[in-house]
Amino acid sequence: MTAALPAAVESPSGLDELAGLVADGDVLVLSGAGLSTDSGIPDYRGATGSLRRHTPMTWQTFCRDPRGRHRYWARSFVGWPQMAAARPNAGHSAVARLQRAGLLGGVITQNVDGLHQAAGARDVLELHGGLDRTVCLSCGDVAPRAELHRRLRAANPDFGPRADEVNPDGDAELPEEVLDGFVMVDCRACGAGPLKPDVVFFGETVPRERVDTCFRMLEDSAGLLVLGSSLTVMSGYRFVLRAAELGIPVGVVNLGPTRGDARADVRVDAPLGDVLPELARRCGA
Ligand SMILES: [Zn+2]
Repeated sequence: MTAALPAAVESPSGLDELAGLVADGDVLVLSGAGLSTDSGIPDYRGATGSLRRHTPMTWQTFCRDPRGRHRYWARSFVGWPQMAAARPNAGHSAVARLQRAGLLGGVITQNVDGLHQAAGARDVLELHGGLDRTVCLSCGDVAPRAELHRRLRAANPDFGPRADEVNPDGDAELPEEVLDGFVMVDCRACGAGPLKPDVVFFGETVPRERVDTCFRMLEDSAGLLVLGSSLTVMSGYRFVLRAAELGIPVGVVNLGPTRGDARADVRVDAPLGDVLPELARRCGA
C-alpha cells in the first residue's frame, strides 16, 4: 500500500480529460476572481466595485448617494497603489501560452484587474469593465485611472489612513472624520462629473452589446473553459447554460464547487496556479 498523495499536487482528477478538451483547440476562456487571488487581488464576488470586507457598492448607492460615492473614492484612492502594483501569476501566463500555441480563442473575463492583458493574452473581453479607467457619468469621457490617481494625489497630499486602519489586502477602514478630509476631483473634460470606475457594479447590468459579443465568441468556439469562477452571478453563468444548449463541451477549473458543475463535462477542483501550468505543459504550450 502506498501513501496517498494530496490529490491536488500530483495529478488532479480530471486533468487528463481537461487536456484532451483544450488540445482540440478553439476553446473560449471565461475567467473569474479565483484566477487573480495568487496575484494578491482580493476576491470579488461577482459584479465588482467593492472589496468583500464591505457591503458591496451598488449602482444605486453610487449614483444616488454622494456620501457613498465619496467613501468609495476615498477607499479606492488608498487601495489603488496596491491594485496598480499587482502582476500576472502563473495561471495568467499559462493562459497566454495556450493562446499563443493556437489552442485558445478569446478570453472573457469577469475580472477588472487587466492581468490577462498584462500577461500577454489577446482578444480579452472585460465583461465587467476595467479598473484602469474611469468614465464620467455626465459627459461620458473615459480617462486613465492612473491620471485620476495623479490628480487625486495632488488634491490630497496629506490624505491617508493610519497604518492600523489598512487591512492586509490594502483595503482601508476609514473613519467618518477621515473621510471628511478627502477631496474628490471633477471630470477633466466637463468639470462636473461624477466620475465612476469603468466597471459594472452590483445592481447594474452588463451592456447588451457586450453580452451579445460574448455569445458570438461562444458560438464560434469548440469548447468553454471556466477558470476561477464560482459562477454565482448570472452574468457569467449564462455562458455555461448557453454552451450546454449548443452542445459545446465545458471544462471547469476552480478551487471549490461552482454553480456550473452539474453542466460541466470536465471538472478539476484544485488550485489554478498548479493546474494551469501543468495543463499548458501537457498541451505543449
Ligand atoms: Zn465629464
